Amino acid sequence: MLVVMDAHATEEQVRAVCARVEQLGLKAHAIPGSSRTAIGITGNRGAVDLGTLESMPGVVECIPVSKPYKLVSREVKEEPTVVRIRTPLGDAVIGGKCAALVAGPCAIESREQAFAIARHVRDAGGKLMRGGAYKPRTSPYSFQGLGQPGLEVLRAVREEFGLGIVSEAVDTETLDLVEECADMIQIGARNMQNFSLLKRAGRAKKPVLLKRGMAATLDEFLMAAEYVMAEGNYNVVLCERGVRTFSDFTRNTLDLAVIPAVQARSHLPILVDPSHGTGRRNKVLPLSRAAIAVGADGLLVEVHHDPATALSDGTQAILPEELRQLWTEARLIAEVLGRSMN
Ligand code: PEP
Ligand code: MN
Repeated sequence: MLVVMDAHATEEQVRAVCARVEQLGLKAHAIPGSSRTAIGITGNRGAVDLGTLESMPGVVECIPVSKPYKLVSREVKEEPTVVRIRTPLGDAVIGGKCAALVAGPCAIESREQAFAIARHVRDAGGKLMRGGAYKPRTSPYSFQGLGQPGLEVLRAVREEFGLGIVSEAVDTETLDLVEECADMIQIGARNMQNFSLLKRAGRAKKPVLLKRGMAATLDEFLMAAEYVMAEGNYNVVLCERGVRTFSDFTRNTLDLAVIPAVQARSHLPILVDPSHGTGRRNKVLPLSRAAIAVGADGLLVEVHHDPATALSDGTQAILPEELRQLWTEARLIAEVLGRSMN
């Protein structure tokens, strides 16, 4: 259910409607738009008593939301959501007219490695660096990430280079630590339907980067974002990172068609990760160009100064000079579409 407020409704009127919704035992989500505020109602198992809400001052109408996902849906908010990520050098913006580049290693391996790559990310013009301190690995014998010391390295990167930090939380136990250190919390493909983790991320104060599960349908992907938003965290950025298919010349098959499909249904921004989407260094640039051209709100890319020695995902890490080329080309393509890269 959605309560549409009048364009001139006062903050007090919005608050009063929210209070009435909560009195009914439901949860109210006030979502300001450019022309009016809408209040999404969740938690209702049956019909909501419309009479009491529709007659309140400032209310234009109450309309049912037809999609299973509510807060994520364009029905609740027409215009694209713009997510701001705090960095020491000002906000990085994802969505609307702004496309973003998030670059960095798959995993934080050491202070030297992270600093070497951070320097390249900053010099290429990046504002956001990715890097996992906790790594979900297929084999228990593979490098699992440095853990807490890795977060300390990321904290130092932030201080030294002024970059905003994007890092993955793999479980509810360590999400607090990641939240404290990172500027954006990544939820990985393998955890896209880890509902307790999604709920915890929904109570976090930092924006969430939610990656599509490797076998997730579009509806499952959007419902996962709904879990985060339903807890009150509206700063969600989606990320397409490839899905499993019979095609075996790449690690995954990058589903670029999902970008316009998501944009038709949801106001949330969506990035593309051509690194996990292909698993091959020489395919990252071509797919990055395609991702920006198809209308993605930015790229999540793995980069390494010495991929041969990388402890994780070296075969898909691009080199620093390729990062510079990617940045230049992505910017030009974005411009054609009336957008800027930041
Ligand atoms: C990653 O970004 O390093 C990662 C593990 O990605 P995904 O969850 O998409 O596999
Ligand atoms: Mn990786």
